[in-house]
Amino acid sequence: MVDVVVIGSGPAGLCAALYASRASLSTQVIAGPLMGGQVSLTWEIDNYLGFPEGLTGAELTDRMVKHAQKHGAEVVLDEVTGVDFSAQPFKVRTYGGEIEARAVVVAAGASSRQLNVPGEAAFTGRGVSYCATCDGAFFRGHDVLVVGGGDSAVEEAIFLTRFARSVRIVHRRDSLRAGTQLEARARANPKIAFVWNTVVDEIRGDGKVQAVAVHRVDTGAADILDATGVFVFIGHFPNSGLYTGILATDDHGYLQVNERMMTSVPGVFAAGEIADPLWKQMATSVGQGAQAGMAVQRWLAAQER
Ligand code: NAP
Repeated sequence: MVDVVVIGSGPAGLCAALYASRASLSTQVIAGPLMGGQVSLTWEIDNYLGFPEGLTGAELTDRMVKHAQKHGAEVVLDEVTGVDFSAQPFKVRTYGGEIEARAVVVAAGASSRQLNVPGEAAFTGRGVSYCATCDGAFFRGHDVLVVGGGDSAVEEAIFLTRFARSVRIVHRRDSLRAGTQLEARARANPKIAFVWNTVVDEIRGDGKVQAVAVHRVDTGAADILDATGVFVFIGHFPNSGLYTGILATDDHGYLQVNERMMTSVPGVFAAGEIADPLWKQMATSVGQGAQAGMAVQRWLAAQER
């Protein structure tokens, strides 16, 4: 039995683990499918305070893990398969076994949303990708599409110009959701073009992606865009499926927490994108993780009184 199990190894989970372990609580982090979470797949982090020169997601992940471990947190490469929060101690089941904990921080993050159009699933890994950092280098000299209009789409489109011959950003409206600085950088990049008011209907090919069928939402006009790569960045959904019916969520599946980061079950806390429908930044996830780490400490101390 440990004092605290942290589910997830992104910025929120590792910061919660840092605070909990630094308060001398025995702390185990179940890393989940991707050590470091989504940020580990980011090529360049440009907006995390204290790193004006920027750094890669892989480098930051390495530093975050080492920092949590330095204070005694044990970071385990395993995935959670089920939980029992019905009584104390809480039980967290993983592929490796079952852990009992006096308190839990759920920081399992979010995953990329899919377009759900014909061809998308069949061509995933054969031209369809949700990670430019992972797959961009396979598209050297190719013509690729990026779908979406938020910060992720624009940031990843700029990154893809390192490899691709051309990058077209296909967005369903006529203005971007992305920040103005990113937009200015994209507009100044000669390899990037925009396809406005357009949605994807089907991804086509023969073994690999060759073309994408689209239509304009304003005129209804259909078109075929030639491309050998389709990078989809249309937002995320919280990885809260495991907690359905156990922890309260909002209508979109985000875990609900109070001002002390506590979920609907006393002693179970949540932090980061699984509980954050709004901000989803490195800095906000780190902040929420710190809050959860301190809240756990205070809650456990109160139980002992
Ligand atoms: P997002 O901000 O939710 O943007 C999603 C984009 O995809 C929107 O432009 C949306 O269109 C479009 N979209 C959604 N569903 C679609 C569908 N079914 N078909 C076509 N288009 C669809 O998601 P994100 O870009 O992944 O960013 C998530 C959060 O992370 C944001 O808070 C963002 O600021 C943050 N982030 C920040 C940075 C940075 O600061 N450098 C980098 C990456 C992400 P509409 O605009 O019409 O809704």
